[in-house]
Amino acid sequence: MIGSRRYRTHTAVGAVGAEGETVRLAGWVHRWRDHGGLVFIDLRDRSGLIQLVFHPERSPDAHRVARRLRAEDVVSVEGSLRARSSDTVNPDLATGAVELDAESVEVLGKSEALPFPVEDETVEVGEELRLAYRYLDLRRSERLGALELRSAVSRAIRTTLEDEGFLEVETPVLTRSTPEGARDFLVPSRLQPGAFYALPQSPQLFKQLLMVGGIERYYQLVRCFRDEDLRADRQPEFTQVDIEASFVEPDDIMGLVELVLSAAFAEAGERLPTPFPRMSYADAMRDYGTDRPDLRYDLRVRNWSEAAARSGFAILEAAIAAGGVVRGIVVPGAGEGLSRKDGDGLVAEAQELGAKGLVWAVVEEDGLRSPVARFLDGLADDLGAGPGDLIALVADAEDIAQRVLGALRTRYAERFGLIDEGAWAPVWVLDFPLVAWNEDEGRFDSLHHPFTAPRQEDAEALAADPGAALSQAYDIVLNGLEIGGGSIRIHDPELQVRALQVIGIEPDEAEEKFGFLLRALRLGAPPHGGIALGLDRLLMLLAGERSIREVIAFPKTATGADPLTEAPARVAEAQLRELGVRAQPAPRVD
Ligand code: ASP
Repeated sequence: MIGSRRYRTHTAVGAVGAEGETVRLAGWVHRWRDHGGLVFIDLRDRSGLIQLVFHPERSPDAHRVARRLRAEDVVSVEGSLRARSSDTVNPDLATGAVELDAESVEVLGKSEALPFPVEDETVEVGEELRLAYRYLDLRRSERLGALELRSAVSRAIRTTLEDEGFLEVETPVLTRSTPEGARDFLVPSRLQPGAFYALPQSPQLFKQLLMVGGIERYYQLVRCFRDEDLRADRQPEFTQVDIEASFVEPDDIMGLVELVLSAAFAEAGERLPTPFPRMSYADAMRDYGTDRPDLRYDLRVRNWSEAAARSGFAILEAAIAAGGVVRGIVVPGAGEGLSRKDGDGLVAEAQELGAKGLVWAVVEEDGLRSPVARFLDGLADDLGAGPGDLIALVADAEDIAQRVLGALRTRYAERFGLIDEGAWAPVWVLDFPLVAWNEDEGRFDSLHHPFTAPRQEDAEALAADPGAALSQAYDIVLNGLEIGGGSIRIHDPELQVRALQVIGIEPDEAEEKFGFLLRALRLGAPPHGGIALGLDRLLMLLAGERSIREVIAFPKTATGADPLTEAPARVAEAQLRELGVRAQPAPRVD
């Protein structure tokens, strides 16, 4: 192990077994106790904790120094390691059977008063403060554990890909816009005033160019940048496991990803059931109301449209007459003890999510309990619900009903305790539409990105009916989170031009923006495809965390700020002038 013997001969945990020897240790003062003469210190290094004992008579000099030590001082201590007496053994500690009888101590770094305790991890510290002092936060075992996991999982992923013949290739960070559907971060060019680099939203076009370059199998653990509004599972910069291969079909990439993910999970002591189930986008939307279904629980969306149309219930009938649907979910056991008031709460919740309303019913031994029970003949049988179950129905336009029921499904699963927290439920979602209509802009948008290939059978008729074309894309969803997505790409330059046209990029503009790609496709491009996995999200799941910030060493807050360095920051006027940029002062808020 690297390290100078001037500071230490062993790590804390590595010292176990050296009983009877003189050893030197280095680390932080974790805990400090003065027991009427004897000073006890728990010394912490990355390996763990070890107890030091300072005797006033045996080592008066060291004892004098030790009495003045404070939490988080950095010291190097020499002494003899000895076994603890059986009544003082601490079974909770890897080093609990030994202690160091300190003979000399050198203070290597003093700590001033701390903004929050490092040693007591039960003390809740606000995230802003933790991030401002991230280096103190990193000293806590949970954060260290996350970084250790990150390193081990990254290594397992690299090894798996290298073993499969993949080459890690770096791609530029200063580049031009890559359309992944987010806003770009821009960097002004000093040498060409008025021109800007964009930070890559992904290395999508470069990895395709690598395929044209004959690399055949590429991967990269790569930082990507997207200027989006942030959530718990998003950061402005994040890491992808980016993969691309030539002469492949979707099955090849899916098989490879199953291998990579299994290796990553094994590193965390977890097992993923393979092969992963597959589901079409249409089925996911219909049965789960989302293209990211959490399959740790069933709660499938069911259709009650036909019966609803004959129910005599004006609201349901009107929804059907207007071309909408009546769909619902059955929540096992959730009806027990559900009051009228609780039911009203469910209605309000659905309305907040954008539904016109919600019909709820509780199945009882002798029928349904619901404010509108008289209209719901046969509902329990039709939906396969039994006594104690709660039924929630939404009557609306199909897209609204889907979205609302998709959201309610997740919320109810959490609220009514239906989630098997230890389970892993991966699923491939396939057969996405190639494009989706953007109502606001009056044009089609790519559902993935504009380089995604349509299914072969849809390629010909692309221009005639773009909305009906399906793509050769695949998303990998785990426990309701999209942890990756990819596709077979368009490698025919003419088809690429037509595909861009579908999303409103006319050939001239295509040449201007993507001329370099089109040129490459015209110079001998192999069929190729790939995928990118979100490493941070994956680690968040593996670490059992609820935010990706917990698995990133130096993350940003929800406003994109870094409380530690206080980035983003203003820069000097001269610096802007040099870049040919003028900063617009933020509008005053009075
Ligand atoms: N570039 C895509 C993304 O970042 C992934 C892919 O298609 O390989 O989502």
